[in-house]
This record gives sequence, structure tokens and C-alpha cells, in this order.
Amino acid sequence: MQVDARRRFPVNGAVEVAGATPVPTMAAVLQRTERRLRAAQATHLGYPYNLVARSRVPAGMSGLLVNNLGDPYVGSHFGSEVCELELEVVAWLQRVWRADPGEAFWGSVVASGTEGNLWALYLAREARPVATLLHSDAAHYSIPKAARLLRMPAVAVPTEPGGAIDPEALASAARAAGTDVVVALTCGTTMTGAHDDIAACLAALDRAGVTAERRFVHVDGALNAMVIPFLDDAPEGIRPGFDHAIDSLSTSGHKMIGTPMPCGVLVARRPYVDRVAAAVSYLRSDDTTLMGSRNGHAVLAVWERLIGHGEAGFRRDAAGCLARAARLATDLTAAGVPVVHNPWSLTLVFPQPAESVVNRYQLACSDDRAHAIVMPNVGDALLSQFRGDYLAWWSAQRS
Ligand SMILES: *Cc1c(COP(=O)(O)O)cnc(C)c1O
Repeated sequence: MQVDARRRFPVNGAVEVAGATPVPTMAAVLQRTERRLRAAQATHLGYPYNLVARSRVPAGMSGLLVNNLGDPYVGSHFGSEVCELELEVVAWLQRVWRADPGEAFWGSVVASGTEGNLWALYLAREARPVATLLHSDAAHYSIPKAARLLRMPAVAVPTEPGGAIDPEALASAARAAGTDVVVALTCGTTMTGAHDDIAACLAALDRAGVTAERRFVHVDGALNAMVIPFLDDAPEGIRPGFDHAIDSLSTSGHKMIGTPMPCGVLVARRPYVDRVAAAVSYLRSDDTTLMGSRNGHAVLAVWERLIGHGEAGFRRDAAGCLARAARLATDLTAAGVPVVHNPWSLTLVFPQPAESVVNRYQLACSDDRAHAIVMPNVGDALLSQFRGDYLAWWSAQRS
């Protein structure tokens, strides 16, 4: 869109500037923007965003500043905050992520999955100052970015064909590093929705002599840390949780949780956070978060989704999405399309179709492959429309 720098928004109705193109009112610009967003969301298939959530919160408080300043557990004398609800969010996820109630944990709502990863790796680096970061070559780009920001040496470990890290290759890389290691595993890779086998990786590290005192393990569960826990048959090894000897776990709020703004949640073992906490006297709080001011509206939205939709709701969503993803995989495969569909994953990978199809469904592409992610808002009608468009392209380019 061309933006006219001379544009002036009238407060009440249109303003005419002699000789100039008519200036739209603010209301008209907002209306046009809303129409564009709704149209884009109606055919969206390419990113793991749950667009079904009809969040009522924080609409009622949209005019209020809500700022969870400082540490959520300490609070501060600043009153316009919702730290209590933030702690309920963290407690909810601690339960789902099998945190032992007898052990001490810390958590907070963060700005995005990226901030969760960055802060987790910061906690890791403070605990293991001379360490090499190991992640798979399918890790999200926020992981190597965090390594650059934190100036940590990083090694990308090869993946198995489906996109999950090779546990033996991880153990070899850890041995080769010769230092402590920080390991970033992924629960649902961005491109193929693969799950690193947490149990197998920890066992391989143990066998290589890289024991718990020499490592810090973070699990990036941006999408599937809110999917796998709700699938009863998923194998224990890939189940994201603190019953494995991991140190931190994070997810995005706008992915499966379904908040209407980007955000995330991080949970870590408490001693790592106590180590970096510094008291800020004028806040009367502890400085334990990357951001000073933190988005309280996001906290309200995550809280409403977790408590309101509930475990039963997420269970239904996970099972429904998985079934629809499997159906789409079956249908495309039946038509001869080579589809990669990892077990327990909502992500399908297939040859990249024509630009018109890529753009209409906003498919993410890399290396001539595209992927679709079957989220709760991706229903049968949208899938059948997509199947029709995709297979029309598929048969046309093969004839
Ligand atoms: C989306 C994603 C992220 C980043 O999350 P944002 O909320 O977009 O910052 C990190 N890791 C994985 C595996 C992701 O899919």
C-alpha cells in the first residue's frame, strides 16, 4: 500500500484537501484493514497459528494499560498488573508439562516463542558459562540467533530423514565439543513438524559421559508442546515434560493456545532463575525477565484460553487436527503426491505448488517443498478447497 506522507486523519469524518486525492477517514482505513485480515485468515494454512480462538479478553480492558512489570512471583507496588493470572498460567502449564510439585519452578509469559528460547539459553549460559550450544539443523532460526546474541559457540547436529535430531550424532557432537553443553531440542520442528526424541537424546548424552552436571537442556515446544501432551498415545520419549531431566521448556501463545496477539510461555527450573535475579529497588521487584515492561493483555489472553478452553478443549483440538491432517495426507498420497507426514504431527510437507496456490493459502516454502499445518481453524471445508486447488495444479503440471 502506498502511504501518502501528507495524509491527515480527520477526527470526525472525511477531510477534503483541494486538488488532492480524497483522504480516507481513520474508520475507513481500519475497516479496510480488518477486511484484509479476515480474508487472509479465511484461507490460511501455512503457519501454525490457531485462528479459531474468539477471544473476548482483553477486549473489555483494551483501553487500559496492563503491564506485568518485574518478576511475576514478586510483583511490585505498581498496581496495573495481572501477575496473579500469570502465575495461574504457569501453574497450568507446569501440570501439563509434568513438573514435579515437590520441586521449584519459575515461569512467565513472554513476548513470543523466540523470547522464550532466548531467555532459556541465557539462563543456560549463565549456569554453564563455557559451553557449546548444540541444536539440530532443523531447529528454528531463533536458536542460532540466540547463540549469536549470547556469543555462544554453536554446532548444528544432523537430523534423521523425517527432521528429528539423530541422538547418536548429538552425543558425538557433545563429546567432540569437549566443553559443557547447552542442548536445544525441538518438539515439532518448523518445517516438518518432527519431534526430537527427548528420552533418547538424554540417554545418548549419559552414555557419552555428558551427564546432568555438564549440560543444560531446553526444549523448544513452540507448537507441539501444546499438542503432544494432549495425545494419549504419543510415545513417552517425545512427550515434552519435566519428568525428563530437562531444564526449561517453552511454547508460543499464538500457536496452539490461540491468543490474538503473539506471545509465549517459558517454564524453567527455579535455581537457574534465582542465579540471575537482581533486585531492582525502585520497582520493589526482581529483575528476572528479558523485558522490563511486559504485555499484560497477552497474559489475560493466554489465561482466558488455557482456563476457558481447558484441557478437554485442547484434547479435542489435538485429536481433531491430527485426524484431519492424516486424512489430507491420505488423499494427497492417493493422488500420487509424495507427502511427508511425521507421526503425531499436524504438519504436512509436499512439493511446492504454483505461486497462486502458495499465496492463496500462505504456504511456507523451502527447497521446492511447501508445508501446510492443520490447526483447529483449518476445517474440512478449507481442506477440501485446498485439496482441489492443489491437485488441479498437480495434475496440470504432470500432463
Ligand atoms: C514458531 C516457532 C518458534 C518461534 O516462535 P515465535 O513465537 O514466532 O517467536 C520457535 N521455534 C519453533 C519450533 C517454531 O515453530
